[in-house]
Amino acid sequence: MNGAIVKLPDGLMSDLNNADRVLVLTGAGMSAESGVPTFRDAQKGLWAKHRPEDLATPQAFKRNPQMVWDWYEDRRRNIVKVSPHAGHAALVVMEQYFERLVVVTQNVDSLHQLAGSTDVVELHGNIMRSICSETGKLIDEQWLRSQSSHPPASPHHPDGLARPGVVWFGESLPQIAMDRAMAEASSCDVCFSIGTSTLVQPAASLPFLALNAGATVIEINPTPTSLSREAHYSLQSTAATALTAIAEHLTA
Ligand code: NAD
Repeated sequence: MNGAIVKLPDGLMSDLNNADRVLVLTGAGMSAESGVPTFRDAQKGLWAKHRPEDLATPQAFKRNPQMVWDWYEDRRRNIVKVSPHAGHAALVVMEQYFERLVVVTQNVDSLHQLAGSTDVVELHGNIMRSICSETGKLIDEQWLRSQSSHPPASPHHPDGLARPGVVWFGESLPQIAMDRAMAEASSCDVCFSIGTSTLVQPAASLPFLALNAGATVIEINPTPTSLSREAHYSLQSTAATALTAIAEHLTA
């Protein structure tokens, strides 16, 4: 589908060209065209019998730290091999057309930063970082890689283990990131919701917050979600296709 032509609905470009502040919320579907599986697609091969909700939780890590660590190692190995796609690049180009364009992402893969987006808020942490399971303190990656156990013991706490620096189901989001995301959602002129199933809270509430605050909401997702009927524009397209088309039609 990447490279296909998408017809932009009437009014979308004029709404965007009149905007000063833009919030772009992205989910796992934003990274799909780079080759990072979404949560629903990630359960292939070795991991097919596990649901993400059973692996990405503090309880799962407590029960079987090695299994959870190995699942994340597998995802990390995949992520270091991939690159941003045309949709990530389009978001970087779009920055120059607005007073402010902030990307609020649920993704943990750094693809927005790699593409060159300058204002990225990570709601769910970053998979390349590891933290102490007891204190939450960051663990030095070079030291970690010199350890042979899976997962290594934490250098910060005698009972701690190294764990992925991501937010698991049932855990709170980093307060600073969530406060910034909510402030942007309440004050933006246009809010994009791209490649997210709108199921994982509290991130899923951000486009609705923007809607209630009077923003124009544009969803990009090949599959309808609970936001599709509420959004002003719902583009059933992939992120790369739709964002490329939008960036091409922006005017200074
Ligand atoms: P999700 O897996 O629940 O849903 C993905 C959504 O993307 C679906 O609605 C799907 O229709 C859509 N999609 C698929 N391909 C697309 C494309 N090419 N363009 C646009 N949309 C596309 O993901 P979610 O809603 O982001 O939430 C699940 C959780 O998954 C989040 O907490 C997130 O942190 C985590 N996650 C992150 C990554 C990553 O960092 N790349 C990958 C998997 C899961």
